[in-house]
Amino acid sequence: MDKVLIIGANGKTGRILAFKLKNHEQYVPVAMVRDKEQVAYFEKEGIKTVLGDLEKDLNHAFEGIDKVIFAAGSGSKTGKEKTLSVDKEGAIKTITLSAQKKIKKYVMLSSRGAENAEKVDGSMQHYLLAKKAADEQLKKSGLNHAIVRPGRLTDGPFTGKIKVDAVLNDKGDISREDVAEVLIFMLDENIKGNQVFGILSGEVEIPAAIPLFLKSGQAVV
Ligand code: NAP
Repeated sequence: MDKVLIIGANGKTGRILAFKLKNHEQYVPVAMVRDKEQVAYFEKEGIKTVLGDLEKDLNHAFEGIDKVIFAAGSGSKTGKEKTLSVDKEGAIKTITLSAQKKIKKYVMLSSRGAENAEKVDGSMQHYLLAKKAADEQLKKSGLNHAIVRPGRLTDGPFTGKIKVDAVLNDKGDISREDVAEVLIFMLDENIKGNQVFGILSGEVEIPAAIPLFLKSGQAVV
């Protein structure tokens, strides 16, 4: 059983990840939270936690960890400085630590548009540049990795069906439940090589859509 550190475990996607991993036959979740008051929510469900803040020292959080999912984010209600210290520098810190600790797989929850962040106009650019910087660091880290770039996240139900493409030209939504399923799917080390792709809600079952995309390099819709 691989121990999976969920960074951003108390978030909407992070909580879904924690519960899905708790019931998974291959993985054991370790929920990284930044506030002692968040611990009970997980521990009453038998999910282990570790306290960790992306803006502080995090070395201890990686002890005994096999794989990592990064699902944290500063959110839209904080200022630009938090986007830099959490989404960019915080993420880069976890990538550096993962490389030092020889983590077996690092799965990044990125965002649609990060690949072309420089060309984006308006308020999203600062955020997307931060996400892109973290993604680029992951690509050159030497870590076995996957970078998943969803469209707008919703609290909609699990459908298990997605659209996948290298770069998403269309805007669209996808539920956090579906995103969490894809992130967990990508923890598998048997998926060879490193992967970067975008996802939206779609028509093809996740276990079929991803291998098809990775084999063909063509959009699966
Ligand atoms: P969320 O509910 O806002 O959760 C983000 C989590 O990050 C929270 O649990 C938060 O902790 C944690 N966090 C913030 N600062 C931290 C720090 N300094 N140290 C440790 N943890 C910290 O996010 P979500 O809606 O699940 O989305 C996850 C990510 O997906 C976003 O951050 C974004 O980068 C990406 N994404 C979002 C969209 C979208 O449409 N919203 C689209 C594409 C990609 P607390 O619980 O303690 O506040």
